[in-house]
Amino acid sequence: MPSAVAHHAVSKFVFVTGGVSSSLGKGLTASSLGRLLKCRGLRVTMCKLDPYINVDPGTMNPGEHGEVFVTEDGGETDLDLGHYERFIDEQLNRNSNTTTGAIYSSVIAKERRGDYLGKTVQVIPHVTDEIKERVRRLASDEVDVVIVEIGGTVGDIEIVPFIEAIRQFRRDVGRDNVCYVHLTLVPYLVPSGEQKTKPTQHSVTELRSRGIQPDVIVCRSDQPISDGLKRKISLLCDVPIEAVISAVDASSIYEIPLVLHEQRLDDFVCRTLGIDEAGHPIDLRGWEDLMARIESPERTIRIGVVGKYVNLPDAYLSVVEALRHAGFHHRAEIELDWIDAETIPDLLDSDRLRELDGIVIPGGFGERGIEGMVAAAGYARLHAIPLLGLCLGLQVMVIDVARNLAGLEGANSREFDSLTPYPVIDLMPDQVNVTEKGGTMRLGSYVAMLTPSTRVAKAYGTESVTERHRHRYEFNSRFKRLLEEAGLACSGASPDGRLVEFVELPGHPFWVGTQAHPEFKSRPDRPHPLFRELVTAAIDRADGREPRLIGLEDLDQVH
Ligand code: GLN
Repeated sequence: MPSAVAHHAVSKFVFVTGGVSSSLGKGLTASSLGRLLKCRGLRVTMCKLDPYINVDPGTMNPGEHGEVFVTEDGGETDLDLGHYERFIDEQLNRNSNTTTGAIYSSVIAKERRGDYLGKTVQVIPHVTDEIKERVRRLASDEVDVVIVEIGGTVGDIEIVPFIEAIRQFRRDVGRDNVCYVHLTLVPYLVPSGEQKTKPTQHSVTELRSRGIQPDVIVCRSDQPISDGLKRKISLLCDVPIEAVISAVDASSIYEIPLVLHEQRLDDFVCRTLGIDEAGHPIDLRGWEDLMARIESPERTIRIGVVGKYVNLPDAYLSVVEALRHAGFHHRAEIELDWIDAETIPDLLDSDRLRELDGIVIPGGFGERGIEGMVAAAGYARLHAIPLLGLCLGLQVMVIDVARNLAGLEGANSREFDSLTPYPVIDLMPDQVNVTEKGGTMRLGSYVAMLTPSTRVAKAYGTESVTERHRHRYEFNSRFKRLLEEAGLACSGASPDGRLVEFVELPGHPFWVGTQAHPEFKSRPDRPHPLFRELVTAAIDRADGREPRLIGLEDLDQVH
């Protein structure tokens, strides 16, 4: 049967699969390979195929599945896309993540439209063609290599159509245009004192039974893999010895590209794809400089993260990375104190809060822990602790000001109290009748105009910014005057002035909230300005110094 996927001469494709176990760091391996290829001057994009049936992860519980990463165009995507963006420093979009659910919805929509009239619609070829089409769409004249990560583990029931699709893909686009990278685990067994290759053999056998012979095997392990073991894997799994890559645990995720380069992963992938290695010499200087900073912190700063999903730190992955990036900039190691918001009321007299150098209140949904977050915002306000509120964080800060500075007793967000006398955070009219949950929030990138001379404007050093959003509720502008009179400053708003995007408290060292999610745009070598300045203020607090005025030089250039 002829394939629906046309040959594309320009882009090459790397498919990354995983075996043996989940959580081996497939996303980080794929991202690190992406970084290495970029450091060779190649143009890279990335994509993740997820075998679950949700149309996107937007409706999943972050406490189980981890953070939902939001792209510029408002895609609600898997958290691995955050790693991709941070490592390859390219903006991805909603097409960079596809799920079984999304694929089936479009196949079923086509069936209803009559596109397959007369045919029996089947996994092969209709579902596999849809998968291939979505991968093929990522190819363009502007991309040299498309790296595609397949979520899940080889051997899972749900993964089969994806494996079949990527198997066919090599035939469609030509052998030299595809490289299969398979990630496995090589465990060390204490009783026998040995590293074991059997799980790797089994998962490669499983992959082969689906028709894919990997080109490269990346072995995750806590100890480096010896040459003898590499030889064994090479022999049993039928790959050249240079294609057995030892990916030993790294001290920082940002070290992984260097670990993989030392094993010459990028050389081998280029060779497999027919990319002229000599014509694309690697320049790792920027990344090595970054690692040098990461490895030589001069101090430690303690930041409390007050949220409700603190048992699964992946729920706040981009927030944590953004804090770390700010730390790299300041040569400060960020020590995180995960504080369950529900416990805050019991902690108000404790050293635990007093000893924090800074606090972050990240985003979230639902009522649980809200009162604790409001109390944490108030505590930071009263004790001059630097605070950055993200989305829900801004909302609880506004509630704190309303109740405790403006005297609006019972002020709340309509999300948590539909009968509140003072809905200082409320639904916008266009959200009131929305009943569907998936993809119906204010999503993606929006412009905000900053109020000159505010802390936020000084941090950014510009007058207008764009940040990514993911929320339903907004600052209720009916209360804006009242809250401003009580001391709150609105430091940024939508260009039409209707939506408040940033708030702060003048006179406080750093008490800043944003309705957006700036954490998604932070990069290891380019920390986000708000996180950078939160850590500046936290360092000042730790040093007992008066807060510095920030970013004035930058501001001078603008005004
Ligand atoms: N639950 C709040 C809203 O929907 C905040 C969302 C968030 O923090 N991302 O507006």
